Amino acid sequence: MPDKRALYEQVIIDHNRSPRNFRTMEDPTGSARGHNPLCGDILTVYVRMDGDLIADVSFTGSGCAISKSSASIMTSVLKGKTRQEAEHMFVKFHHMVTSDPSDTSSAEDLGKLEALRGVREYPIRVKCATLAWHALAAALEGDGRTVRTE
Ligand code: ZN
Repeated sequence: MPDKRALYEQVIIDHNRSPRNFRTMEDPTGSARGHNPLCGDILTVYVRMDGDLIADVSFTGSGCAISKSSASIMTSVLKGKTRQEAEHMFVKFHHMVTSDPSDTSSAEDLGKLEALRGVREYPIRVKCATLAWHALAAALEGDGRTVRTE
């Protein structure tokens, strides 16, 4: 699927160049740092909950194109979702980037998150792609701790 692949690359380049929701949040209900020592990615994810709804989500930090674009896409799809929807999305996303590349059965539509599907062909990149999600999970649980991918 060369067309699809080119499209995915374009999405990653775009989100890396102009990341969405790339800012410090002044009044988060939770935040957490994610550190991927293998690659050197360091991200902080902020979340503000309104009851069970994710009212706002943002991130700051530095990292490779995969970690940054993944964080950017994540924040752009999660706003307005419930905590449960976010957790469910993480499970599906994680499955997408860790499933066997020859397995074409997992055709569940993940929308924008599909752009990271190619990562599963590069196992070392999986930690880059999931870093923001791990940080988000920690941010949803509470406060300011650092999650490491190691
Ligand atoms: Zn990385």
